[in-house]
Amino acid sequence: MKPRDRLRIAMQKSGRLTEPALDLLNRCGLTFRQSRDKLFCFGEGEPVDLLLVRDDDIPGLIAQGVCDLGIVGRNVLDEFRCTASEDVAALTEWRPLGFGRCRLSVAVPQDMDYRQPQDLGGLRIATSYPGLLNHWLKAQSVDAAVVTLAGSVEIAPKLGTADAICDLVQSGGTLVANQLRETDVLLESEAVLAGPQALPTDERGDMINLLLKRLDGVIQVRE
Ligand code: ATP
Ligand code: ZN
Repeated sequence: MKPRDRLRIAMQKSGRLTEPALDLLNRCGLTFRQSRDKLFCFGEGEPVDLLLVRDDDIPGLIAQGVCDLGIVGRNVLDEFRCTASEDVAALTEWRPLGFGRCRLSVAVPQDMDYRQPQDLGGLRIATSYPGLLNHWLKAQSVDAAVVTLAGSVEIAPKLGTADAICDLVQSGGTLVANQLRETDVLLESEAVLAGPQALPTDERGDMINLLLKRLDGVIQVRE
């Protein structure tokens, strides 16, 4: 890969994390000129540019070195870390960012007699997070079938394609609307600044350290 002298940060192109992520970067003194196709935003003051992508692509872009940092949900980062092959660069959470809070939880039909994770034994559980769910099931010594779905996980029990689900929950309203009951929290999530475990040793590393310092100031003021 060609060496770059400008820092590149990946963030969600359009979704729940877009506005708060841009707002946070602005507060850190970074401003961007929006390009027309909105995939790439050129940084105006500092040598820092943005790549606007689907949130699911962010960990891979960092691992491949296409981007230096990313703003992404811990749920997406940890799922990547659970499922990435061993020869992929190790990623780490540089800072929790305090927005995009939600949890990854197991939920079962309201009329199911559920007391403990072992009650999931032999059942089918629908999720978009097979890595995190399998990891949790193993830790609980539960043998269940994981059904991977890209979306609309919460309607799987009603459709009969699964007996329970494992999905992101914020208020719990979606679960109630689908006659589901939250039983176990697997992960407390929020947006995080993700990056490689080893920072670049060139000017980009200096820029990352400066950005982390500014972030700490901004996050402290907000708390
Ligand atoms: P993309 O097109 O980028 O793939 P998406 O549909 O996967 O978008 P969003 O629904 O915008 O993504 O959610 C982005 C992130 O927001 C989630 O990965 C999660 O970290 C966080 N989040 C917070 N609350 C919720 C919620 N109630 N449902 C889903 N995600 C939530
Ligand atoms: Zn996504």
